[in-house]
Amino acid sequence: MSRQVIRLHPAAPAKPPEAAPCNGCGVCCAAEPCPIGVLVSGRRTGACAALLWKSDAGLYRCGLVSAPREVLRGLPGFAAPLLSRLARRWISAASGCDSSLQVEAAT
Ligand code: SF4
Ligand code: SF4
Repeated sequence: MSRQVIRLHPAAPAKPPEAAPCNGCGVCCAAEPCPIGVLVSGRRTGACAALLWKSDAGLYRCGLVSAPREVLRGLPGFAAPLLSRLARRWISAASGCDSSLQVEAAT
């Protein structure tokens, strides 16, 4: 089994089991970008550039869905709602946790 160090906000919720509702723990997106995240991040490894910590909610959100213009600075305002809707579909938001990663807290 390969191991990888990822950095998450200390207040982030613990990763739920696979298929449970997504709680915004951020583990999957901090480990590697999804296909659309690869385009946004310009890399296939490491944390996705679109992953945003939401301190008011105490969880991570996909910035392409929740704040497209924070992620893509040049995005025109009129295009943001469309991109948000498309991104929600592309990443299958609300379909449950699809990550089988096992998390160990740093000691
Ligand atoms: S899909 Fe799973 S690992 Fe990814 S943020 Fe949601 S709960 Fe965390
Ligand atoms: S779901 Fe969003 S934040 Fe997560 S890897 Fe994909 S594009 Fe990046």
